[in-house]
Amino acid sequence: MKSYWSGKRVTVTGGAGFLGQHVVRRLESYGAKVFVPRQRAYNLVALDACLRCLLEHPCDVLFHTAAYYGGIGINQSEPARLYYTNLVMGANLMEAARLAQVAKVVNIGTACSYPGYLEGHLKERDLWAGPCHASVVNYGLTKKMLAVQGEAYKKQYGLDSIHLILTNLYGPGDSYNPERSHVVAALVRKWVEAEMAKAPRIEVWGTGKPVREFIYVEDCADAIVLAAEKYQDVTMPLNIGTGIGTTIRELVETINAVTGYRGTITWNADKPDGAMMKVLDVERMRQVLEGWTPPTDLKSGLAKTIAWYRANKAQADTKW
Ligand code: GDP
Repeated sequence: MKSYWSGKRVTVTGGAGFLGQHVVRRLESYGAKVFVPRQRAYNLVALDACLRCLLEHPCDVLFHTAAYYGGIGINQSEPARLYYTNLVMGANLMEAARLAQVAKVVNIGTACSYPGYLEGHLKERDLWAGPCHASVVNYGLTKKMLAVQGEAYKKQYGLDSIHLILTNLYGPGDSYNPERSHVVAALVRKWVEAEMAKAPRIEVWGTGKPVREFIYVEDCADAIVLAAEKYQDVTMPLNIGTGIGTTIRELVETINAVTGYRGTITWNADKPDGAMMKVLDVERMRQVLEGWTPPTDLKSGLAKTIAWYRANKAQADTKW
């Protein structure tokens, strides 16, 4: 059977990155002709580079997976760079997409865009129900603006786009730099290093009480490609996730179980907890993706990630 992607020309920004490379791999396996702009040739923060990219490599579908991003640490140390890079890159790419007459743009958003002080699972219709959490507002708002731009560009220019909202990704190829990393990569590195050094204790940030949702990077790429085919509604974002909340304390226990570490854990409450709960409601995702749900459970995803990190530590540690 001919796939939806067969023969389609697709451009994937960030296509050599942590998430983007898996999106590219899937699209190619379904028969798409994929182009990945590299920063050396196309610095996508500039409008002329965005336009040159889309005119030199015309595409039917543009996936915008590129982002300058990271965990709670980089949100504190580099709020301005996060803000400027993501806001301007996103705005310019959409403008270039309509000038180059791209048929559909798939924007990758973030759960940091949701109100940061709501209780319960985050539903798409609540995206505007309150302010972002102060710890991630600089990043969260830039992606939220892309959802606004998508609606405006459909109304005025007829450009089709969708906005997919992701939670905390993890897996091989992530950033393992402690100043930038999200919690899973940070803890995987701490655990493997403690194991190597036979360290009697490990320090973890915060209180352990915040609840997060973790999705294995390859599962997320599957869902993005499927959603790009099945979802069309520019007026409403679509959550992509597991819908399963895990406390940071439970995450620590699962990593202990996978690695067999028996030392002491100390909790540094001087480090920020961030939002108390960031878990997506995935009911609409299940409907749109016709029952698809992420196949990798947290324990087996962590086992794969830890095995990869042990085998590739030297190379992983050099990545910013
Ligand atoms: P967030 O999901 O945007 O808040 O970003 P992170 O993935 O960086 O952090 C998630 C939670 O993990 C926060 O409550 C952090 O305090 C907690 N955490 C515990 N230890 C660490 C660590 O070593 N690094 C990071 N980045 N977060 C940690």
